Amino acid sequence: MTSTETPPATAAADPATVVAGLRATFATGRTKPLAWRLAQLAALRALLTEHADEFLAALRADLGKGPTEAYRTEVGFTLNELDHTVAHLEEWLRPKPAAVPEVFRPAEARVIRDPLGVVLVIAPWNYPLQLALAPLVGALAAGNTVLVKPSELAPATSAAIARLLPRYLDPQAVAVVEGAVEETTALLEQRFDHIFYTGNGAVGRIVMAAAARHLTPVTLELGGKSPVLVEPGVDLAATARRIARGKFMNAGQTCVAPDYVLAIGDTAADLEAELAGAVRAAYGEDPSADPEYARIVNGRHFDRLTALLDSGRVVTGGVHDRATRYLAPTVLAEVAPDAPVMSAEIFGPILPIVAVPDLDAAIAFVNERDKPLALYAFTASERTKERLATETSSGALAFGLPVSHLAMPDLPFGGVGESGMGRYHGEYSIDTFSHLKAVLDKPLG
Ligand code: NAD
Repeated sequence: MTSTETPPATAAADPATVVAGLRATFATGRTKPLAWRLAQLAALRALLTEHADEFLAALRADLGKGPTEAYRTEVGFTLNELDHTVAHLEEWLRPKPAAVPEVFRPAEARVIRDPLGVVLVIAPWNYPLQLALAPLVGALAAGNTVLVKPSELAPATSAAIARLLPRYLDPQAVAVVEGAVEETTALLEQRFDHIFYTGNGAVGRIVMAAAARHLTPVTLELGGKSPVLVEPGVDLAATARRIARGKFMNAGQTCVAPDYVLAIGDTAADLEAELAGAVRAAYGEDPSADPEYARIVNGRHFDRLTALLDSGRVVTGGVHDRATRYLAPTVLAEVAPDAPVMSAEIFGPILPIVAVPDLDAAIAFVNERDKPLALYAFTASERTKERLATETSSGALAFGLPVSHLAMPDLPFGGVGESGMGRYHGEYSIDTFSHLKAVLDKPLG
């Protein structure tokens, strides 16, 4: 079938028709050549650069994101992922030779990366551009057709994605379906070849159950409470600056944001003072006036967050305004392990400090809870680093710098246990969106 015989996948709203269109395109084989993949990535690059301002305006409308932060964490982030992929794709797609045991020789064995078919990407609202388009980069680079479902809770960004993507990308190979629970439920009835979901674990379970009906593999990029351990003997001013920067970016609505601090030994009192200073240095006396400081996504999340404010003593922040969904960067001290703020992922600009006597207690605290998406530690001890690497389980482990590991495309990004399953970014995206096919070639005679 030629491209002109396949109806544009986005032309019909009916999910079955959209998926059938994408499947028909995949069946033509035209998404498989490297040239097609690179052309799609080049088109996506053009889209992001030519319409960066529109995306930044949408992100401002949805989440009050400032232009500098929004460019860095959404548009720029996606461009970096894309450029890294373009630079390495040919090399990643090369068949990987495998050793042949002597008994089978002469023969050749290799692994080739086969595209899967039709990929569904379901994105959340907190980085609504990055988390829709970075998986798209991987899925296209791996030679698939893709259906993108942006988050309805970031409506301006969702609308911009739906309007612009079909103008730049092969409209028979990439479709956008907007909508909320009803539309996503209808999509999940269709058969996909991979579902890539980013969001909370409750919906992750719904996605996985729906995928099971078709035996569709899933990647679940979920969240959870990512702890930060602070040991005595580190530079607490520098530690506080880095924690504050990672925590209060996007007003704390970041899946890998430090969720809470475990202050080890006698660090709590000095750390809380340094954190208050770090917030003032980053956002000034009145963070509501800082154009880079984001707002809470909606009233429901705002109410959920403000109900957590009396979980401890307010060291800094606590100020809030429902009309503008502003919640100041807030640090809470003397927080009990069973306080409400410690019961679920905070996903907002509230940073509780829990004091623990020593490293053993900190490790036990982490291991008694769900496996986090990231575990951070500020320590001067190599022995502590080794112990955390071997005695705890988390999606990622970072010393001295929260959040930034996710911007390193050679590192796999994903969770473990309650924080998710599967991984992506860079070459890991190619593996996620491909089947690793074993090929054996033995001559006759
Ligand atoms: P959300 O409300 O935008 O939901 C995510 C997606 O699921 C949306 O597209 C939405 O339409 C869809 N959805 C919602 N309910 C559904 C249902 N009943 N059936 C089918 N689809 C449904 O986002 P969220 O879940 O509030 O996102 C926040 C969570 O996501 C946090 O836990 C955060 O840590 C996590 N997160 C993880 C990552 C990561 O990369 N690991 C990144 C960002 C956010």
